[in-house]
Amino acid sequence: SAKVQGRNTCRSFTEDMGLGDVAQLLLENQLRQALTRDELLLHYQPQIDMASQRIVAVEALVRWKHPVHGLLAPDRFIPAAEHSELFAPLGEWVLRAACRQMRAWQHAGLTHIERVAVNLSAQQFDQPDLPALVASVLQETQLGAQHLELEITESMAMRNPERSITVLRDLLAMGITLALDDFGTGYSSLSYLKLLPVTRIKIDRSFVSNVENDPHDAEICAATIDLAHKLGLTVTAEGIETPGQFAYLRGLACNEAQGYLICRPLPADQVEQFEPAGMAVAG
Ligand code: C2E
Ligand code: MG
Ligand code: MG
Ligand code: MG
Repeated sequence: SAKVQGRNTCRSFTEDMGLGDVAQLLLENQLRQALTRDELLLHYQPQIDMASQRIVAVEALVRWKHPVHGLLAPDRFIPAAEHSELFAPLGEWVLRAACRQMRAWQHAGLTHIERVAVNLSAQQFDQPDLPALVASVLQETQLGAQHLELEITESMAMRNPERSITVLRDLLAMGITLALDDFGTGYSSLSYLKLLPVTRIKIDRSFVSNVENDPHDAEICAATIDLAHKLGLTVTAEGIETPGQFAYLRGLACNEAQGYLICRPLPADQVEQFEPAGMAVAG
């Protein structure tokens, strides 16, 4: 078998590959084609300022308009892309498309949308030329750096903290902002927060969902917002679905909110028409 023959021999497709590998290969091939056939698109989820309830930003979320399976959410293909060499072209496509759209909104006069947030994959974050790539996309799309935010997760940042700090500093120095996504789900959380040069934390939906019925999650949100503010960070709550969650977090002076209560992710042309409905919350 391939194992006995050693490292440099090719694996026999039928003998050594499980079904999972086959599925991964098929998905990779389809995704490669998707990139060249214009089957990827971005939806944008509004983020509002909690005090004024006005839209201030959008998060770009990738979708795949699959010829057979219809519109696919990122969890259906991002993991496959991350385990292939496709992560780089896919990530670059998202970054460029989001910056281009943001510039188009600015040209159309939608200047109240201050920034577009783009999620990075772990592999993208590890790429040595990430700051150079971001700089070249900004240059090419003529988007001001202050209008781009990059989202990374704690676990991405904590794999190699020293390197991460350097990369994040380089990115910040360009004038872009940085968000720690899904905050609270990594196990390093609070102790490393002071070390990582980021602009914002996004409290994970798993805490936000329970603030009305789990006193511990409510306290975790309160403590996190308090600490973040003391460290000079802005806080976004993600996954707000109820007026009660909105009211509780606004009461804690959480800065911004994102979630189905406010708006689902929208195709670009619908973002232009988005008006926050007013969250109808007391105090
Ligand atoms: P994320 O960055 O934490 O994005 C938020 C996800 O939560 C989105 O799912 C959004 O649609 C969903 N969401 C927002 N508000 C609510 C809510 O009130 N309730 C519920 N149940 N869900 C809500 P989506 O678009 O399926 O994306 C899932 C994840 O895929 C993202 O999580 C992000 O980690 C990843 N992702 C999305 N786009 C990209 C991309 O372009 N590049 C990379 N590397 N990852 C991406
Ligand atoms: Mg995100
Ligand atoms: Mg998130
Ligand atoms: Mg999340």
